[in-house]
Amino acid sequence: MDIFQKCRDSAGYYAQVRDAGIYPYYRAVSSGQDPVVTVDNEELVMLGSNNYLGLTNHPEVKEAATVATAIFGTGCAGSRLLNGTLDIHLELESRLANFLGREDALVFSTGFQANLGVLSCLLGRSDTVFLDALDHASIIDGCRLGFARRQKYRHNDMDDLEKRLETSSVAGKEHKGKLIVVDGVFSMEGDLADLPTLVRLKNQYGARLMVDDAHGLGVFGTHGRGTAEHFGLEHEVDLVMGTFSKSLATVGGFICGDRTVIDYIRHEARAEIFSAAPPPPSVAAATKALEIVEREPDRRKQLWENTEFMRRELTRMGYDTGNSQSPVIPLVIGTDLDAFAMTKKLQKAGVFANPVVSPAVPPGRSMMRTSYMATHKMSHLERALEAFESVGREMGVI
Ligand code: PMP
Repeated sequence: MDIFQKCRDSAGYYAQVRDAGIYPYYRAVSSGQDPVVTVDNEELVMLGSNNYLGLTNHPEVKEAATVATAIFGTGCAGSRLLNGTLDIHLELESRLANFLGREDALVFSTGFQANLGVLSCLLGRSDTVFLDALDHASIIDGCRLGFARRQKYRHNDMDDLEKRLETSSVAGKEHKGKLIVVDGVFSMEGDLADLPTLVRLKNQYGARLMVDDAHGLGVFGTHGRGTAEHFGLEHEVDLVMGTFSKSLATVGGFICGDRTVIDYIRHEARAEIFSAAPPPPSVAAATKALEIVEREPDRRKQLWENTEFMRRELTRMGYDTGNSQSPVIPLVIGTDLDAFAMTKKLQKAGVFANPVVSPAVPPGRSMMRTSYMATHKMSHLERALEAFESVGREMGVI
């Protein structure tokens, strides 16, 4: 069979969706990731961005990126390992480690690469990795690249995880390394990992715990140090992974932990040593954004006020928001096509929100993923609520 057959098959599906006028992807935004964006010359309230603290257009962040470009140029033209490390990479790593109270940090060019690099080099043949079924795709792929045995447990089901830890600890197997990897905040459902139980289990079964805090950093904890700070468990999480593509306003990722472990990753992670270094403007933007996270706790407070307001109003309207406990608030809609249609109708009503469909969610439980920013004003949120009310009724969802 032609290897391209699968492309023709799925082209049919996308053609159908396009013909129906409900194709929801790759919409071109002609403005910054602000509370209001421009799409097809229309202004839409942006509820589909991970710019939680609203820093992508912050004057100081933009200035830092501009200055770094003026000094270092636009790229590093090589990997961190060889020619691509700048002093600003080292400064950012040291600030991240200090911020999170860890010995060391290592920056990658994206968060996706951080997970690929870290997991593929840590997971050896005699190890077992325990994954939540809703872990981010980059965790799943990182584990696929490693040689360890994979144990995927049901989403946030700590009994299922414990059974699997028990089975892999039976006599003769104890020497094998065990790693539990979870999203701190699950990126689509907006719920949290059960860190207290995960910490108990990792200690009981001699495992290590890695938390991908892409959506937790800057958002959770009194100081914005993420889900581990939120639960008061910062010293119990062995590795914290993060990204710059959400609260830190640019692109890039990192891993943070004990010096020996980070230094091993620094020399072994193929996604780090065989890929070009994060470019100067991104490094400078992330460094400045981190400074603002530390300096301006009120942004976090405003983000939470906006989030709680929207959760309350959407629930009151009759939407099913699942178990969301974060600024990611999904609205359960129905079939994939319903979610696509809703995306288009919301756009017409002045709102940009993202559909989440199978296989990311079980069939029939497709969602609109909404997410909030510190910089949304009440007028934006009220406009969005009007759209959710009229479109939700029209679609029979509420
Ligand atoms: N982990 C999680 C939980 C994410 O949501 C994402 C991005 N959607 C990533 C990792 C990848 O991060 P990046 O965008 O920096 O590649």
